[in-house]
Amino acid sequence: MKSVLIVDDSIVSRKMLAKLIESSGYTVASHAINGKEALELYKKLSPDVVTMDITMPEMNGIDALKMIREYDSDAKVVIISAAGQAEKKQQAMEAGAAGFVTKPYDNQDILDAIAKCFED
Ligand SMILES: [Mg+2]
Repeated sequence: MKSVLIVDDSIVSRKMLAKLIESSGYTVASHAINGKEALELYKKLSPDVVTMDITMPEMNGIDALKMIREYDSDAKVVIISAAGQAEKKQQAMEAGAAGFVTKPYDNQDILDAIAKCFED
């Protein structure tokens, strides 16, 4: 089963994503609460996909995306951005994000972005 690492500093967001991901045929590899923890868990668990919040303490999602992609150039990271951060999209895409979804999101947008990671 494909595994997803959920990265978000909000427990409510993590729980909502976990519920969606687990009900959609994926397994949750783990949860990380900031970018630093995300990088550590990525190295430890090698998840198939990472869902990545942007605004988090310690290390933000854009920096974590860059460091994960530096570690694994094939890493699939879907950025989930808060509303009003659309300007971050270009930054994320340049850093190699596999997808970019804006909150509040439709569940289908998340599932489409994850599915797209397995297209090629
Ligand atoms: Mg956040």
